Amino acid sequence: MDNVKKIRLANLPTRIEKLNRLSKELGKNIYVKRDDETGTEISGNKVRKLEYSVAEALSRNCDYLITCGGIQSNHCRATAAVAAKLGMGAYLVLRGNEDTPVEGNLFLDRMLGADIKFITPDEYRYERMNIMKRIKEELYSQGHNAYIIPEGASNGVGSLGYINAMEEILEQEREMGIKFDAVVVTVGSGGTFSGLYYGNYVNNNSAAVYGFNICDTSEYFKDIVLGLLKEISDYTGREIKVGKEDLNIIDGYQGRGYALSCVEEVEFINYLAKLEGIILDPVYTGKAMYGLVEEIKKGTFDEHENILFIHTGGLFGWNMDQRSLLK
Ligand SMILES: *Cc1c(COP(=O)(O)O)cnc(C)c1O
Repeated sequence: MDNVKKIRLANLPTRIEKLNRLSKELGKNIYVKRDDETGTEISGNKVRKLEYSVAEALSRNCDYLITCGGIQSNHCRATAAVAAKLGMGAYLVLRGNEDTPVEGNLFLDRMLGADIKFITPDEYRYERMNIMKRIKEELYSQGHNAYIIPEGASNGVGSLGYINAMEEILEQEREMGIKFDAVVVTVGSGGTFSGLYYGNYVNNNSAAVYGFNICDTSEYFKDIVLGLLKEISDYTGREIKVGKEDLNIIDGYQGRGYALSCVEEVEFINYLAKLEGIILDPVYTGKAMYGLVEEIKKGTFDEHENILFIHTGGLFGWNMDQRSLLK
């Protein structure tokens, strides 16, 4: 990791706190790492990735960041905020249409001055990289040198942010005198899980790293993660031996699909907010933490005593549809 530079964007280290009442109810020690507190505009897990991605962009003399995501993408909002902070341009390619109410992250994207292009779900699925490349060429003809960050900054360089986070966790374990048996995170595009997994492995840490996929299937993401682990090794110079069977990605909690909520999820988030004073987001952490609690009840985590859940942020993602499910 010494050969890879980063810039400082996040407030680190993020604190780890114990959820006392939830722990008591479940008969486990449940801790939360507050990566939702990496910043305000520049907040959430994407900031740790952007510390590396944007360092690479700057090292290539780029003055524009192009990236993509869902209409309420936390990653796109964080990228827009970083660009504004550094005096760069931001161009966001968003899956959705122009008539979407301008609230939450989309509102902040606009406040932060990002250029926005809306594309259809099909274009997003099959064409997003080509669309971003065309924007890069267009910007070039206007005198700009743009850097493309893929969805969620989930590539080799972005994932380095979560190798770093794992090292931060190991340091905090020493300070707190605790050993986490399981580290649990949401899987949305896979970079956060991949970085944690890689960091856990190369530090010979005994914890198990678990992911909960919030869209698609765990099989789909296991392939993505294997690819990302390979890409990471291109940066670190160390490949790790890992197969699909080594990856704990738990399926079944994607609910109605990406950014779509159901009543049980929203009720769970509401329950936890009132129990612990912590608010999860509806798209990622709400589904994953709901999954964690359900799986603890089923016995999947019986061999683990101290469980660390990473709160990856996303509070701006609450929108009217999801709020309307709250009684
Ligand atoms: C993007 C995101 C995730 C998922 O992280 P990936 O690295 O994309 O898997 C989790 N939580 C929040 C709030 C996010 O914005």
